[in-house]
Amino acid sequence: MIPALPGSAETPAPALHARRCVRHPAREAVARCPGCGGSFCRECVVEHGDRLLCATCLARELAATAAGRRRARRLLPAAGRALALGAGALTLWLVFYGLGSALLRTPPAFHDGTIWQNADQPAGKTEDAP
Ligand SMILES: [Zn+2]
Ligand SMILES: [Zn+2]
Repeated sequence: MIPALPGSAETPAPALHARRCVRHPAREAVARCPGCGGSFCRECVVEHGDRLLCATCLARELAATAAGRRRARRLLPAAGRALALGAGALTLWLVFYGLGSALLRTPPAFHDGTIWQNADQPAGKTEDAP
């Protein structure tokens, strides 16, 4: 049986071929992870971009990029929502402003109900033209 690594973290680094994989003490290390500085065997390193990373650092890297993408995705709809909210408020305001000014422009006879009695006069007959 092979005992657990006897304090390998403190030992001064010898040549790479003499080092052992952090996870597999029986195997020789073939690469050094630039993320954590540990030595790993061929089975423990994964090529990511142009670097060789250990599984832990690869997972961390992927999580970081995924989180970054999620953040970017979260940020954009938030801005879009704010914009839509502003546009919606503006539209609503314009609609009500138009409605209010239209109501202000209507002749007082319309509110009195007397406009229908003299409808034969061409005063406000533009509404029902096709
Ligand atoms: Zn690593
Ligand atoms: Zn290994």
